[in-house]
Amino acid sequence: MYNYIHSRRRKFLLLALSLLLAAALLVSCSDAGGRSAAPPGGEKEDPGEGGADIPEEPAEEIDYEALGVNEAGRIMILMYHEIGEPEDVWCRTPDNFRKDLEALYEAGYRLISMNDLLDGHIDVPAGCSPVVLTFDDGNAGQFRYIEKDGRLVIDPDCAVAILEEFYAAHPDFGLAATFYIYYDNPFRQQEYVQQKLQYLVEIGFEIGSHCYTHGVLSRLSPEEARRELGMHVKRTQEYLPGYIVRSLALPKGERPKDISYVIEGSYEGTPYRHEGILLVGAEPAPSPFTVKFDPSALPRVRASEIDVEGYGLYDWLERLQNNPQLRYVSDGDPNTVVVPEELAEQIDRFRLGSRTLIPY
Ligand SMILES: [Zn+2]
Repeated sequence: MYNYIHSRRRKFLLLALSLLLAAALLVSCSDAGGRSAAPPGGEKEDPGEGGADIPEEPAEEIDYEALGVNEAGRIMILMYHEIGEPEDVWCRTPDNFRKDLEALYEAGYRLISMNDLLDGHIDVPAGCSPVVLTFDDGNAGQFRYIEKDGRLVIDPDCAVAILEEFYAAHPDFGLAATFYIYYDNPFRQQEYVQQKLQYLVEIGFEIGSHCYTHGVLSRLSPEEARRELGMHVKRTQEYLPGYIVRSLALPKGERPKDISYVIEGSYEGTPYRHEGILLVGAEPAPSPFTVKFDPSALPRVRASEIDVEGYGLYDWLERLQNNPQLRYVSDGDPNTVVVPEELAEQIDRFRLGSRTLIPY
């Protein structure tokens, strides 16, 4: 038992050290609540001052109240399209995208992937809020190769490079995003499609479906829709053998009334199953542990400042800041679901799975 705690503490000390090294730039979410970030649970079994060979002060217990922990709160799934010039309704400039990441980081948000959200695997530090990044359409500015000094490099102003650069400077922000692509030419450089898809998956990004040819499903017959959905999976697996496409971003956000064949089906022998189906607007998604969570209709927040009518990224950042009961705030432990007592009735026992519910 002691060794276990000891190694947990050593890990924590290493983490603390690396945080210190990056000090000036890093903001720990827990600091915002006046608490140090430490693995929850561990300290409850803390051997106390007797653990003599550890010079540092023992970490404090997680104070749910002080951190405003609320794992029944909402989670922003941000929707991006093109990254490039000039700024437009469906285009974010590289500098504005950098600004968004900085604003999220400063406000205590940390990246999780769409698949993590679907799995209810939310592993961000205590006091932090998870956020999901999604990119629709596979535009050129999301992932572009350029030649520099005779070498092929990733364009430093495309989304992939900006995310990697931000992660290098802020490793605790995390690195995750899902690219909802369609065919024939995702990211618009036909000669590099294979290389790009492989790279994305190796880095830990995800590929989602945006239909085979961007077909608007509500305007198609079920058979035509099955072709759009099945062919996307078939084509993706030709590039990435065995890759499981788990989520779908509805082109134009239009959702057919009968969603059953969109969730699951097959086309010419290729089965597909979309555990998550994403809409276009206009609010953060319910916590995956609540009865309100409907994975077949997940709302997204537009990461834009043009024509967002009070429902864009910065509107929601402010709204969630001012209405803490709306915002998902983690206790730092993915195996527990900690909620203020008055919100406990919103928790869906089925979605809770093997996690422990802790009302406080
Ligand atoms: Zn689209």
